[in-house]
Amino acid sequence: MTFKTMTQPDWDSERLSLYGKTAQDVERALAKTRLDQEDFKALISPAAAPYLEIMAQKSHALTLQRFGRTQQFFAPLYLSNACANICTYCGFSMDNHIRRKILNRDEISQEAWALKERGFRHVLLVTGEAPKVVGVDYFLDALDELNNHFSQISLEVQPLEEEDYRRLMERGLHSVLVYQETYHRPTYAEHHRKGNKADFDYRIDTMDRLGRAGIHKMGLGVLLGLTDWRTDSLMMAHHLRYLEQTYWRSRFSVSFPRLRPAEGDYEARHPIADAELVQLICAWRLFSPDLELSLSTRERAAFRDQLVPLGITALSAESRTQPGGYAADADTALEQFEIDDGRPLEQVVAAVKAKGYEAVFKDWQPGW
Ligand code: SF4
Repeated sequence: MTFKTMTQPDWDSERLSLYGKTAQDVERALAKTRLDQEDFKALISPAAAPYLEIMAQKSHALTLQRFGRTQQFFAPLYLSNACANICTYCGFSMDNHIRRKILNRDEISQEAWALKERGFRHVLLVTGEAPKVVGVDYFLDALDELNNHFSQISLEVQPLEEEDYRRLMERGLHSVLVYQETYHRPTYAEHHRKGNKADFDYRIDTMDRLGRAGIHKMGLGVLLGLTDWRTDSLMMAHHLRYLEQTYWRSRFSVSFPRLRPAEGDYEARHPIADAELVQLICAWRLFSPDLELSLSTRERAAFRDQLVPLGITALSAESRTQPGGYAADADTALEQFEIDDGRPLEQVVAAVKAKGYEAVFKDWQPGW
C-alpha cells in the first residue's frame, strides 16, 4: 500500500472542517503534547490567528528542546536549467525562451570549489526535469565529483524509480526533496500542463519509493500561493503522518516555498501573508517536533532573521538559482526565480549568531 492507494482525505470536506475550527479547538490543540491532524487543522485555521504569540512561544521552546540553538546551513547547487515540462510558475518551464545550460564535470567541480571556499559543506543539487539529458547517470557522475567536497548531498530533481534511488544512495546521496507543489488535483492539472510532471499520481508516489529505498531524509513542500495554503498544508500533514508511521527509519523535512517572480511573471493567486507563514511554521513544529523546517532565500532578510528562533532549523544562504552561478558572474537570464535575501553568507551567519544561535556546516565550520 502507498499513500496514493489509501483512501485520501477529501479536499472539500477537509477545507470546510478546517474553516469551521473554533477557539476551543485551538486551545485544546495547544494543551496537548502529541498532536494529530485535527489539532494541526485547528492551529492553521483562521481561529488560531489570535493565538499566534502562544504558538510562537511553544514552537520556540520545542525547537530549542529538540535541536538546541543551532541552524544548519546549506546551499543549492543548480546543475542544469534544461526542462521538458511546462509549469506555469517556473522560470525553467520549457515554453520560456531562455538559454539552457547543463554543467559538465569541470563546471560542477568549479561550483563545488566556489561553495567550499564560502564555507558550505551541505549542498542541495537542483535541476529542471529533463531525464533524457540529465538522468540517473548524470546524477551518479555528479555525486562522484562532489562526494570529495561535501559531507552531505541532497537532491531536488525529477522523481525517480526506487532502484535509481538505491543506486544514488550507494554513491553517497543523503536526502531527496520532491515537492508535491499542491495536493489539489484540479489546481495541479492547471499548473502542470505538459511533460512527466503532469502525472500527479507518479509524483505523489515518490515518497513511498524513497521510503522503500531507505532514504535517510525526504523533503516535502507545497508551493505557497498556488491555492488555499491552509488546506494544502493540511493535506501534506496527512501525507507526512502516513510517511512517519510507515517509514519510521527515515527523517523528514518541510520547506516553505512562497511563489516568487520568475520568467513568465506568474502572480500568486492565493498569497500567504507573513503572519500566516509564521502561524504555519509554528503549527508544523507543534505537530511534528522532530521535523526539519527549512527556509530559503526566497524570503526577505529581515523576515528570515525573525523566523530563526521560531522553529526554523535549516537555512540556505547566498543562493544562486542558475547553473554556474557561484564560480562565474551571475547570469540572471538563467535564473529559476529571483531570490530576496541576497546577503553574503557571512552576514546571514552574523545575524543568526546575533540571535544567540550557532551556525552549523556539518562537520566543518568556518572561523567567523
Ligand atoms: S517547476 Fe520543475 S519541472 Fe516545472 S518547469 Fe520548473 S524546473 Fe521544470
